[in-house]
Amino acid sequence: MRLILLGPPGSGKGTQAQRLVHRHGIVQLSTGEMLRAAVAAGTPIGLQAKEIMANGGLVPDEVVVGIIADRIEEPDAKKGFILDGFPRTVPQAEALDDLLRKKHLKLDAVVELRVNESALLARVEKRAEETRARGEEVRLDDTPEVLTKRLAQYRSLTEPLIHYYSERRKLLTVDGMMTIEHVTREINRILTALGALEPKDHEDHAPKAAKKAAKATMKASKKPAKKVAKSAKKAAKPARKAAKAPSKTKAPKKTVKKAAKKAVKNAASAAKARKGAKTAKKAAKKLTKKRAKR
Ligand code: AMP
Repeated sequence: MRLILLGPPGSGKGTQAQRLVHRHGIVQLSTGEMLRAAVAAGTPIGLQAKEIMANGGLVPDEVVVGIIADRIEEPDAKKGFILDGFPRTVPQAEALDDLLRKKHLKLDAVVELRVNESALLARVEKRAEETRARGEEVRLDDTPEVLTKRLAQYRSLTEPLIHYYSERRKLLTVDGMMTIEHVTREINRILTALGALEPKDHEDHAPKAAKKAAKATMKASKKPAKKVAKSAKKAAKPARKAAKAPSKTKAPKKTVKKAAKKAVKNAASAAKARKGAKTAKKAAKKLTKKRAKR
């Protein structure tokens, strides 16, 4: 499995990456961690990055791309990896696409952890407190001033990646305001439904129909409302059928029903959007008529 975790500082990327590592035995590749190690070791890259990081800026693209290109060549990354904090700019994402293409590797998904900005400062302060309590050194950039800068960088340089990956149908968004446990469960559920993860024996199996529904949800971010409604409905159909049918498949009805419900919900919101567009069209027509009369 090859996965990107995307989200602003304090959104929980590191925490979730560690949980995925723990469960699936793949490596976490955090450019932030690697750069901090380089700073601590005083390597040439570390010396170059130190000041930039302390000020909440971004290390040049070619530096981080070089780090990642070397790192994914290592044997422990063969089984898969979770990228945490990389890519952070569109050129980095393009470089990653090139790297993977050359190695004939596929990116399974990009999981965006969406959080309210107002919660981030409190989260980063908590992280600093916990680090202090463990007797470890607090990150120089975990201060309110630097966080403000890092957030501004995220908005202008990293947020465009949401569009980049949604266009490529790789983006999945998870509500990062839920509890850590809930977010983990949601990520695992999505990845299992996409076929990126093997379900654990004691867990719900996501059948083909649920998989299809998850894929429809992924595509939804790109298609126009009408198409979304159609494909979500189409995807929901076999899921609904499977939910009704006597359990021929291994999948518990609950999972299938849930997937069907979600797909139907997508269809409903797309239909709502269509209705809104219709009303707007009608209003525009009325206005044109009125003007013509005048
Ligand atoms: P993080 O631990 O991911 O919050 O990263 C800490 C700092 O390392 C960031 O604020 C940047 O200065 C630098 N950094 C980490 N990853 C990247 C990247 N992909 N591109 C540029 N700078 C990065």
